[in-house]
Amino acid sequence: MTSCIFCQIIAGTIPASIVFENSTLVVFLDHRPLFPGHCLLVPRQHLATLVDVEPELFALLSAQARQLAIAMEEALEAQGAFLAINNRVSQSVPHVHIHVVPRTKGDGLKGFFWPRQKYRGPEHMEEVRSKLEVGLRKLQQS
Ligand code: AMP
Repeated sequence: MTSCIFCQIIAGTIPASIVFENSTLVVFLDHRPLFPGHCLLVPRQHLATLVDVEPELFALLSAQARQLAIAMEEALEAQGAFLAINNRVSQSVPHVHIHVVPRTKGDGLKGFFWPRQKYRGPEHMEEVRSKLEVGLRKLQQS
């Protein structure tokens, strides 16, 4: 069995709040979010760092990250989003992932200090996950 925590989430052997998945990638909620709705977008294939990602795959991941950031505006009433990749340095999980974080003016996020929050509980996490799932579906249908 793989020791990669994100591969286990992708395989469904450990639980996660999945927002979206297709044959290439999976999007799920970060369990220690900067703000509720903070998503991680990962390729299904185990690729440890950015160097391992072919440009064509990176284009697909980026397109999905863009769509997710747009969906956050309606689904979560975000005013914008923060997108980030920790590559090698500060990368705590060696499976490439894009952070897509909903932002609101005055939310207090400054620089690269990432103060984490907690969901109020599983129901709150499910409510946020479901809003994002619906928001993304709407965008994909439009
Ligand atoms: P990084 O530090 O950029 O590598 O980001 C890794 C992210 O994975 C962190 O923000 C963690 O909170 C998140 N994370 C680690 N394990 C899990 C998990 N089991 N479910 C959801 N998010 C996770």
